[in-house]
Amino acid sequence: MSASTRTQPAVWPEGVIARYVTDAGKLIGDPNVTVDLIEQDDRIRARCTACPDSESDFYFDPMCTGARATGWATNQAATWAQAHAETCRALPRPTA
Ligand SMILES: [Zn+2]
Repeated sequence: MSASTRTQPAVWPEGVIARYVTDAGKLIGDPNVTVDLIEQDDRIRARCTACPDSESDFYFDPMCTGARATGWATNQAATWAQAHAETCRALPRPTA
């Protein structure tokens, strides 16, 4: 493996429960250009690492507890993330 090979980090950022590589990430071979699902106190936030303005919150159902409260929000967030990742051609701003 060459030094320039891009790989997933050994540990995901705190709170991230799922990642979807975007179309741009696929094209440039960078698995770190992703839409992340981030679990917060009362919601799942879906956020694109390449275009942070593209984010959406999916709130847990306050009438339910446990998996029933989080399941719907997680499913909706996953659907949003998958759809965004399939079409997003934004590139993240280089760091360094
Ligand atoms: Zn995006």
